[in-house]
Amino acid sequence: MPSRPDLGPKPRLGYTPSRLARAAQLRTDEAALSKFGADPRARAYVIGIDMIVMKKASPVSDPLFTLAQARAMEGATESVFLGLIEGAPRFGFGITAQAAEALKSREGFHVTDLRSIAVQGLVEPDHLPPIAEAKAVLHWHARHRFCPNCGAPTQPVAGGWKRDCPACKAEHFPRTDPVVIMLATDGERCLLGRSPRFAPTMWSCLAGFVEPGESIEDAVHRETREEAGITCGRVRYFASQPWPFPTSLMIGCHAEALTTDIVVDREELEDARWFARDEIIDMLKRRHSQGLTTPPPVAIAHHIIRAWVEGEVD
Ligand SMILES: [Zn+2]
Repeated sequence: MPSRPDLGPKPRLGYTPSRLARAAQLRTDEAALSKFGADPRARAYVIGIDMIVMKKASPVSDPLFTLAQARAMEGATESVFLGLIEGAPRFGFGITAQAAEALKSREGFHVTDLRSIAVQGLVEPDHLPPIAEAKAVLHWHARHRFCPNCGAPTQPVAGGWKRDCPACKAEHFPRTDPVVIMLATDGERCLLGRSPRFAPTMWSCLAGFVEPGESIEDAVHRETREEAGITCGRVRYFASQPWPFPTSLMIGCHAEALTTDIVVDREELEDARWFARDEIIDMLKRRHSQGLTTPPPVAIAHHIIRAWVEGEVD
């Protein structure tokens, strides 16, 4: 194992960790929820599907609105009780995408997508986890207005954490979709790929949705084989990250490659290749001779790659 490179202090992983106590036991407590709704310390994040509404401020924008301000917004949809922060209630208020679009030109507002907010650091980092929570739940509401069992309109209950069907009595809960994201390694080399959607110089870990009836390990094996033709052996869990685009959970892993000949699935990837550890260090330090980069620290791929470079993975 080569000596550990000096990559500086570890950056914070985007959308984690949350300082909110979700207080799930209070979601069905109508008296508590109505008290929170009247609490002068209560604040709301206002979200129009993919767009986050903020108040323009310097050096960072302020994504919190009083409940009176949030309730006065045009195009209101569902709301969700997110939890408590030092006893102060936090809510997510949904508005339509059109209403959010209209606020873009309004004086004093800053409306943009969550990815830009996270990558460019447009709000204090502690706001990212509750915004991710609100965005994911509100997106689920927007897509679950009708019962998948009988087709009747459903109603939000439990502080926005459930939808009930009054016709067939089915209960529907917000879902999150697991995605494996993995770095296959072969001694001093690791496997990275490029999606056509990436910035032209960026290379990252391979990733894919876990399918029903599949373990995390099997999903890592299958995706690595499908996308790059590489067979993997041992899989080690590294860390996870909520990824509210719209409702994913990224499950970060390292995997031991058992084969080395790459066969790229051109439907999924533009390219895939092995990278030497030294080349990855240059990419992480943004000094690669061809300008190649790893994903930014907001993404778990950055942390998975860095952990391997720093020798945290055997
Ligand atoms: Zn139903």
